[in-house]
Amino acid sequence: MLFRELAELARRIASTSSRREKVAIVAELIRKLGPEEAYKALLILTGRIFPPSDPRELNVSWATLWKVVSELAPGGEPKGVDVGELVESMLRSRDKRQTTLFEEPLTIEEVYSLLEAIAEAEGPGSKGKKEVILKSLFSRVEPEEAWLLANAIVGETRLGLSEGLLIDAIAYAYRRRREDVERAAMVLGDPYEIVRRGGRLEFKPVVFRPLRPMLAQTAESVRAAITELGKCALEYKLDGVRVQVHMRGGEVRLFSRRLSEVTRSVPDVVESVRSGVRAEEAILEGEIIAERDGKPLPFQMLIRRFRRTNFDPKLIEEIPLRLYLFDLLLLNGESYLERPYVERRAKLEQVVSEPLKLVPSMVTSNPQEGEKFMKEALERGHEGIMAKRLDSPYVPGVRGRYWLKVKEVHTLDLVIVAAERGYGRRHRWYSDYYLAARDPETGEFLVVGKTFKGLTDEEFEWMTRKLEEMAVEREGKLIKVRPEIVVEVAFNEIQRSPKYRSGFALRFARIVRIRDDKTPDEVDTLDRVRELYERQGRKL
Ligand code: AMP
Repeated sequence: MLFRELAELARRIASTSSRREKVAIVAELIRKLGPEEAYKALLILTGRIFPPSDPRELNVSWATLWKVVSELAPGGEPKGVDVGELVESMLRSRDKRQTTLFEEPLTIEEVYSLLEAIAEAEGPGSKGKKEVILKSLFSRVEPEEAWLLANAIVGETRLGLSEGLLIDAIAYAYRRRREDVERAAMVLGDPYEIVRRGGRLEFKPVVFRPLRPMLAQTAESVRAAITELGKCALEYKLDGVRVQVHMRGGEVRLFSRRLSEVTRSVPDVVESVRSGVRAEEAILEGEIIAERDGKPLPFQMLIRRFRRTNFDPKLIEEIPLRLYLFDLLLLNGESYLERPYVERRAKLEQVVSEPLKLVPSMVTSNPQEGEKFMKEALERGHEGIMAKRLDSPYVPGVRGRYWLKVKEVHTLDLVIVAAERGYGRRHRWYSDYYLAARDPETGEFLVVGKTFKGLTDEEFEWMTRKLEEMAVEREGKLIKVRPEIVVEVAFNEIQRSPKYRSGFALRFARIVRIRDDKTPDEVDTLDRVRELYERQGRKL
């Protein structure tokens, strides 16, 4: 197919806001093209160029693109809102005599291989090489095509082609059930691969193709997790880098949770897998931490081992790593995804030996025992625990409630800026509180969470009286108050949230006590909230 036709199709996708129509157009494209060509077309349309597990990157900055385009169309007048429109308008002013009239129009395949050549230009002078290829590419496309090309190169095609939509289109094109396509996409790491395989759905892990990792939800406490899951497994939650280990024969490759390959950064871990896993072929999962004398080293040290550039062999000694395994997804040709947790763990124990370790674990239904285990994990410098359902399968790419993470509780001092009347027994009181941190720049108090938990009936009474005295505005059940009452609030996690202007929201917030000894200017700042958020979110 000509690239021009793909660009026309992209216009059609852009011009409709109907999801169904977008799905139909993409499905039609998939059916019309051969697998390899459709695969490349979808990667271009979504502005990815390479799928997540492909380490190649274009690395073309906006400045470079601009330089190339300006050379082709000097003095052009850039108009438009996105990169593609700007480039298109520039090229319209290009002196036609500069373009070679006899050049054949470009096909999708040709454009894609030129993009590959750009990604593969490496080493000294790579910037120049990239520019030369870009220039030949843009000199051969019409302004209408340049729009899609430029947007794809900067990674923003804005066609509304989310992964969910691609999955729908693939299901439609090959007449498969959506759930099956989704599952195969998680097992293969991305939906593009299904198209490349001509619609063949794979449900068994493929060695050297990273799967989307199974994810956990949060529980408020060990007790809450055990109440929900019943008798379950508890494991230390290590604060490191999650890796999927793929091995066959002597070959070992490691992938991060974002599916990028990290093998080269960790030759020592690779070696430990070679000697510590007794299997011809396996896919395992675990967490790498930096460790000395059995104690975890700070995450900041660990992360130095994973910097992309300039891997320094000296770091191997300076920052010793250890892989703690916690799951088994494939063994000697057999998929373990559907097997229950207990069976996967038992098999893991059989095939793994020193210098590798398994994540410390226990099975219990007793909350006190669980709390003791959690305390032990924290004392040893870990992040908390994971509670896992004993009969749970491994579900790639899904954040479900088979795994529940319980993290250390943090506290912040916050000020109450508004409250709502409760329901039922609590309707007499203002029992739901908006909690705010101080913005150090403006001095404003910005809401970071809401809670109705933690106070006794007497305290609700007291609080209601106080809030009424401090009211500045009433609106239905809501009362806005002068920011005066400071409370200490416990929580398990901070999330990014558009709900509040602060941009953050506390998970499982509860009031620990009323801090009458503190004034509002002593409450924690938004910077502190951000710092705690960043500390918990540093994942590769
Ligand atoms: P979070 O990133 O807070 O959603 O927590 C999930 C992450 O905890 C996983 O992606 C792993 O990197 C990490 N983790 C640490 N220990 C374990 C464990 N025992 N089981 C599963 N994941 C673990």
